[in-house]
Amino acid sequence: METADVVIVGAGPAGLAAAAELRRLGVPRVVVLEREAAAGGIPRHCGHYPFGMREFHRVLRGPDYAALLVAGATAAGAEIRTRTSVTALHPGGRLELTGPEGLGEIAARAVLLATGVRETSRAQRLIGGEKPGGVLPTGALQGIVYLNGQRPFRRPVILGSELVAFSALLTCRHAGIHPVAMVEPNARITARSPAVWLARLMGVPVMTASAIDRVLGRDRVEEVVVQRSGGPQHLAADGVIVTGAFRPEATLLRASHLEVDAGSGGPVIDRWGRLSDPAYFAAGNLLRAVEAAGWSWAEGQRAARAIHAALAGRLPAPGGLRLQLEGAAIKLALPQVLVGGPAGDGAADHLQLRLNRAAKGRLRLMQDGACLVERRLNALPERRIRLPIPTLRGDGPLTLVLDEAP
Ligand SMILES: Cc1cc2nc3c(=O)[nH]c(=O)nc-3n(C[C@H](O)[C@H](O)[C@H](O)COP(=O)(O)OP(=O)(O)OC[C@H]3O[C@@H](n4cnc5c(N)ncnc54)[C@H](O)[C@@H]3O)c2cc1C
Repeated sequence: METADVVIVGAGPAGLAAAAELRRLGVPRVVVLEREAAAGGIPRHCGHYPFGMREFHRVLRGPDYAALLVAGATAAGAEIRTRTSVTALHPGGRLELTGPEGLGEIAARAVLLATGVRETSRAQRLIGGEKPGGVLPTGALQGIVYLNGQRPFRRPVILGSELVAFSALLTCRHAGIHPVAMVEPNARITARSPAVWLARLMGVPVMTASAIDRVLGRDRVEEVVVQRSGGPQHLAADGVIVTGAFRPEATLLRASHLEVDAGSGGPVIDRWGRLSDPAYFAAGNLLRAVEAAGWSWAEGQRAARAIHAALAGRLPAPGGLRLQLEGAAIKLALPQVLVGGPAGDGAADHLQLRLNRAAKGRLRLMQDGACLVERRLNALPERRIRLPIPTLRGDGPLTLVLDEAP
């Protein structure tokens, strides 16, 4: 069987950053496996700005940014294999794959999973009505516009207001598409406020506290019915862009022996990004769905340092305290497993949290009745929230508590 020191599954920003860093640290054989025809991950499909500020101190378009990451990993000596899908994960770092040469297997001393996210479909978003053509997720829209140079519609409705919905707006502007409206079920937009200026600049009304009830049309979308507090509103439109509600691309994980976190939909990790089988690590959007590319890139670099330490036998034995969550608004918190001893070697120094609805209150990390760290919280769903990871006090149970203000 073919062997490598480290195999990385997914050549997006997280996987490529990890590959370059592992090689820089002197790991001899690093192989990156990518199912698409070219490496680069999502940015390769996003022909708009802004990418690369944290990594290259420049504002780049997605494809230029992806090309720099690929060049960096290749120059560092990583081997990138495209058109190669990993199809199964086995204990100890053995992978099944399928590629241009057919089926194969590869075994590695460590495997980094960096498979990114997948979008939820129209069916999963429970949008009723007829089934005309012209209902697209953002990823498909970007592929059609930037990679194929086509314009799938002229007057679509955009569902969602996460950061990625604004990426859809930029894609529309690039292709000369004029969205009729952005529709957001929550009372406020999900992305941070500067993003809404873009909608205003483009003359696109943002309809909050609204939901797409039905999509009507025979062959193509002709009308979108939006449910609002004042009653249904009928929008003449020729398409729908379904954005957001991303989930980690965890198909491989779910079919494997590795533990999956119900809240994030990604793997259960410790501070070093190590999974329940210590031969496996994870980084990037697989951990919790969409963050900015620079964030995923930094996670890839950190995972590389952790893997390097693991290969040198420097990481503590796997295991630790499993974080319990108390508070209905907490959607996810990671790393899910914490250890009491000193960190380092790429260990996360903050917990990352997300809420499933807007909430205000006090967030506390408790151990054996004592509060280790706390902060006030006033956050919208899907926003990034961080809490420093303190030194633990022994082996008592660890609970993250959100007390909501009345
Ligand atoms: C529509 C959209 C617009 C965005 N716009 C911006 C922006 O303007 N600026 C910004 O900073 N960020 C932006 N982001 C976020 C950014 O793209 C992501 O944070 C970043 O790409 C995450 O990197 P990643 O490596 O975790 O995953 P990805 O980039 O998703 O890469 C994962 C890779 O894994 C591969 N893969 C998956 N499964 C397998 C398998 N079984 N075998 C082999 N390969 C596999 C995939 O093909 C993919 O190439 C945007 C995201 C989206 C969805």
